[in-house]
Amino acid sequence: MIVLRGIQKRFDSVHVLKGVDYSVSRGSVSCLIGPSGSGKSTLLRCINGLQPADEGEVWVDGELIGLRVDGDHVVPLPEKEIADQRRQIGMVFQRFNLFPHMTALENVMSGPLRVNRADKERTRDLAMGLLDQVGLAARADHYPNELSGGQQQRVAIARALAMKPKVMLFDEPTSALDPELVNEVLSVMRDLAAEGMTMIVVTHEMGFARDVADHVCFMDEGVIVEEGHPDTVLTDPRTARAREFLKRG
Ligand code: ATP
Ligand code: MG
Repeated sequence: MIVLRGIQKRFDSVHVLKGVDYSVSRGSVSCLIGPSGSGKSTLLRCINGLQPADEGEVWVDGELIGLRVDGDHVVPLPEKEIADQRRQIGMVFQRFNLFPHMTALENVMSGPLRVNRADKERTRDLAMGLLDQVGLAARADHYPNELSGGQQQRVAIARALAMKPKVMLFDEPTSALDPELVNEVLSVMRDLAAEGMTMIVVTHEMGFARDVADHVCFMDEGVIVEEGHPDTVLTDPRTARAREFLKRG
């Protein structure tokens, strides 16, 4: 279960997130849609602590991210504990950022090996299993530049899964892909959703949102303007802003 309360974020004078309250129940898929600049990526980065919120709270499975309540005060957690928490939050970006000098297998193994000093053989088995899950067992020894964009993105998903995250955040995972490669990535994401992974997906793929999401949030100018079941939000939105956005999309 993910709960966000009153998330605010400013960059200098720009007030990007203006008090976002948002919750995602365990095992559900929530899609975040909205115009460019509305704060979707910033919100994901606040959730995983890549860019901590200025105000507000992020809870993941009952754990406050980045902060500790100390009497009447809320104080930052030590760096190491923040790093431990962040590992439980997987993230996949628009641009595949695999390590170019590592094979697909090494990329997937890199997290567990670096962090847990995990047993190498066991990590290799785990990574091979994950590559198999994303349909790339046969490409384990290929380097990123020998893989298509869709394949690279599937390796990126496997790499995030190797840390056994409690939630997976996706920031427009298919928008940098050639159209014919979009479906292979969405299909891996559908499988993940079907297995019960908790997911927050920023996407322009309305078909995916309609079919897979349990919940859709429409964001505009740093707030969630409308949210609910995809059948409502995507086909019969209440607000003029959401109607306008979906008409354009
Ligand atoms: P898109 O659909 O184009 O990806 P988005 O909804 O993800 O847009 P964000 O990337 O979260 O939007 O950006 C929201 C606003 O915050 C924009 O006005 C952007 O310029 C600003 N912004 C984001 N990151 C920074 C930063 N590091 N420094 C300054 N301004 C930033
Ligand atoms: Mg973005």
